[in-house]
Amino acid sequence: MPKTYCPECDSVVSLENPREGMLFPCPDCGIELEVISVDPFDVYFPYEEEDDWDDDWDDDEDDDDDWEDEDE
Ligand SMILES: [Zn+2]
Repeated sequence: MPKTYCPECDSVVSLENPREGMLFPCPDCGIELEVISVDPFDVYFPYEEEDDWDDDWDDDEDDDDDWEDEDE
């Protein structure tokens, strides 16, 4: 089984049938990882698409309330 190391916590991560672009959580720290290469097997943090972000903000009308909670 191919294995590599988590870029976040350095734990060994292995996948039975890795495919490029596959997303999975690190078994140790739980951070989301993406298979960036199968041979050699390598993983890294998934690419964040800023367009998705924009959508979220527009949809969420409770944003203002959330911000004020952080003061406590
Ligand atoms: Zn990890």
